[in-house]
Order: sequence, then C-alpha cells, then structure tokens
Amino acid sequence: AKSEGRNTFRFFCAEMNTAAQARMEIENDLRQALEQQQFHLVYQPQMDRQQGCFVSAEALLRWEHPQKGLIPPDRFIPVAEETGLILPLGEWVLAEACRQMRLWQQQGQRIERVAVNLSARQLVSDTLIGHVSRLLEYHHLTPDRLELEITESTAMREPTSSLRQLQSLRDLGIRLSIDDFGTGHSSLSYLKHLPVQALKLDKSFVRDIPDNRNSRAICAATITLAHTMGIQVVAEGVETTAQADFLGSLQCDLLQGYLYGRPLPADQWAATLTQV
Ligand code: C2E
Ligand code: CA
Ligand code: CA
Ligand code: CA
Repeated sequence: AKSEGRNTFRFFCAEMNTAAQARMEIENDLRQALEQQQFHLVYQPQMDRQQGCFVSAEALLRWEHPQKGLIPPDRFIPVAEETGLILPLGEWVLAEACRQMRLWQQQGQRIERVAVNLSARQLVSDTLIGHVSRLLEYHHLTPDRLELEITESTAMREPTSSLRQLQSLRDLGIRLSIDDFGTGHSSLSYLKHLPVQALKLDKSFVRDIPDNRNSRAICAATITLAHTMGIQVVAEGVETTAQADFLGSLQCDLLQGYLYGRPLPADQWAATLTQV
C-alpha cells in the first residue's frame, strides 16, 4: 500500500510537471515572440444599427507561432497576464491599434474609432495613462478615436485603483466600455460608479436569442438599464439575422459578430469599410 501511494504521488507530480511545463513553454515562447514580432492584430467591425454602417472596429490579438501555428488568445493571454508579459505586449497592441486608426483616418475611411482590450495588470499599471496619451499625441489622434474595453472582473480585481485609472482615462476623453457584461461578479451598483460610455452584452446571451426566454429578458433588461443610465449597448457575437432583428427591436446601439464580419487583418477590410 505504501509503494502504491508513492506511485500515485509520482504520477500526480508527473501530471503537474506536464501542465507546468506547457505553461513554461508558452512563457518562453512568448518572450521570443515579443522580440521576433510574431504578433499581429485583426479587426472586427461594429455596425451602428441606426446609421447602417461600420463606425468602429475591435482590435483582437493573434499570435502566429513559427512552428505551432496560430495560438488563440484565450491560451496565451492568461499566461502573459500571470507573468507580467502582458505589459509590453499590451503596449504593443495599443501602439499598433493607434497606428492603424491613424492610417484609416488618412485613407479617408469612415471608421470613427478603434477598440482595444485592456487586461487587469495594464489597467492598474502606472505607465498606462502616460503611454496612452503619448500615443494619441504621436499619431495626431483625438481621444475619441480610441475606446478601451475592460471586463467587470478586470475592474473588480483592484476596484479602488481601477476606478481611479478609469477616471483618468475618461478625463483624457477616451471612450470606455465594459466587456462581457453580465458574466462578471460585480453588482449593478458598481456600474453606477464606472465612468463608461458603453457596455458589451456578452455573446452567451446573444447566442440564445430570440428563442430562449431568459436570454431575451436579460438582453431587454440590460439594454433598458443601460439606456436609462445614458450608456450605449454593443451586442457581441451576433451571428444570425433573427438575433440582429430582435436586438434592433430593443434599440441596441451597435452590433458586432460574424453576421457582419469575422476579425480580419486591416488590409482585408479596406474594401468593406465605406469611404467618406
Ligand atoms: P472578447 O474581448 O470578448 O472578444 C470577442 C471574441 O469573440 C473574439 O475571440 C472574437 O473573435 C469572437 N467573436 C466575434 N464575433 C463572434 C461571433 O459572431 N460568434 C462567436 N462565437 N464568436 C465571435 P478571440 O479573438 O479569440 O479573443 C478571445 C478573447 O481574448 C477576447 O474576448 C479577449 O478577452 C482576449 N483578447 C483578444 N485580444 C486581446 C488583446 O489585445 N488584449 C487583451 N488583454 N485581451 C485580448
Ligand atoms: Ca472585447
Ligand atoms: Ca466580449
Ligand atoms: Ca470574452
């Protein structure tokens, strides 16, 4: 029995090692990827329902590993977050998105702003505000050209400093939105204190409309609540016209999802984005 226990222990350790190894491998690869610029951004447009045109685009990070191929963000962003590598990586994303926004502007594209996802570490970093304002200045962008998306759990990690940072970003004139709304743990009263202009209805709710009664109710209530507070609503993960029609009947402001377009490199959007 004693040796059996030892074997179980060994087996357990071996498993732990595999998981830790996989993580360490991603971590090492990430460092190299930053140096060798293996990252690029894809953009997914957001449709203004009333204007019937694309007014903004969300930047989404892609990692093209030379041997392992495309690694999805859900697999490497948590590691980047834990190791702190998200700070240089996040700075690169912000810089690249601002550069692209300036390019669109110079090309006379109608797109009004670019939305960038912000991680928890980035949000509380004391270099964020300076970095963002320098980027806007460098690219001659007015602050309304940039939107930052923050999840509820990101903001709740360190509520006090997050709130202070969000207020500073807002003071700069940057648009703020709450990502994955409805999936976090924050109370609705917290929403009242966040200086945000938009919330993004999580795709898990959008997926089940119009058939599912509970999802219908959540979408309707969220949109009414947001509008009452003067906050816009972006629906994410819109895949069908039935979903779009239902969201339209609720006066949802912006629609984003495969129905309108998959995330694509900026040069592949050039034909789709309407010229001024
Ligand atoms: P997210 O911010 O909630 O982004 C939306 C995700 O939904 C994206 O996945 C997008 O490709 C996907 N999506 C868009 N339309 C549809 C649709 O119609 N149906 C379905 N089923 N999915 C749709 P992606 O690109 O794999 O990104 C996953 C997550 O990784 C993002 O979720 C975000 O949390 C994170 N992420 C991506 N880029 C960045 C970044 O630059 N910085 C940080 N901190 N996080 C990022
Ligand atoms: Ca997002
Ligand atoms: Ca989201
Ligand atoms: Ca998400």
